[in-house]
Amino acid sequence: RINGQKENRLQRMLYPKPETLKPPRTDVLTVSPWLAPIVWEGSFNTEILNNQFRQKGWRVGLTTFAIKKYIRFLKPFIETAEKFFMVGLPVNYYVFTDQASNVTDLNIIVGTGRQIIILEVPSYERWQDVTMRRMQMISDVCQQRFASEVDYLVCVDVDMRFQDHVGVEILSDVFGTLHPAFFVKGRDKFTYERRPESQAYIPEDEGDFYYAGGYFGGKVEEVYKLTNHCHHAMLTDKANNIEAIWHDESYLNSYFLYNKKPTKILSPEYLWNEMDGTAFYLRKIRFIALQKNMAEVRT
Ligand code: UDP
Ligand code: MN
Repeated sequence: RINGQKENRLQRMLYPKPETLKPPRTDVLTVSPWLAPIVWEGSFNTEILNNQFRQKGWRVGLTTFAIKKYIRFLKPFIETAEKFFMVGLPVNYYVFTDQASNVTDLNIIVGTGRQIIILEVPSYERWQDVTMRRMQMISDVCQQRFASEVDYLVCVDVDMRFQDHVGVEILSDVFGTLHPAFFVKGRDKFTYERRPESQAYIPEDEGDFYYAGGYFGGKVEEVYKLTNHCHHAMLTDKANNIEAIWHDESYLNSYFLYNKKPTKILSPEYLWNEMDGTAFYLRKIRFIALQKNMAEVRT
């Protein structure tokens, strides 16, 4: 975007000097072997990041899907995002749904500079198809409208609640999120797709992290590449009568691994589970998966 490329100097800022021999976090990994930062509370200064972000005039889109019964999660999802997600910055909420008028009827109020955009999409019979087809639907809209309306996309599940700060520190060319159930586990415990016939195949002796399917994003162009890649990998598998074990999450993991892709990685602060309690290394729990009756909500 041309007018997002201004190179004016930033306004003067006063803050403590970073100390080379005193890293703010010594209890957790804060950088990957390919030098992608892993975002933990304490490792960044929101004020510096916001200053830079505003100066560039960047815009953020938050995508989510509320299909069939999952529409019940939408209102609390957006209402908590209003309190914690990119506060003070313009945000477009892109809601993909099969029930546009029901979304309108929810009457969700958002602040100035923020708006809800409803994108009507088809629903699928199987819940696996509902989650996997997100890749196709996001990639379709990347070229249609995301490219002209926003600079960054954040793509998340809807069965979630924000409960602490999530800001521009998450943004990067392409980011992924450590799955809360796997980040302290060994490769052998990762639930990657293990059948070589699948496009999502990852052998036992490979893999860096196990990324969550429900939280990724980046620049629109990178999100397009990611979602388009995953969608086509799924189509190839479908033609070969195979479906990866954890659906879109499996394809996402192989895309990240084989492209050494995430340029930034979100710690489990950004994706936690209601039932997991807390842990000493978690200074904040920002975004939390709600408990749900899987059998009931998916049928
Ligand atoms: N989803 C939906 N309707 C469905 C199934 C899934 O809208 O019937 C969307 C919704 O955004 C949901 C996401 O797909 O958060 C992923 O599904 P789910 O949350 O059930 O997966 P889990 O987090 O349990 O792995
Ligand atoms: Mn979910």
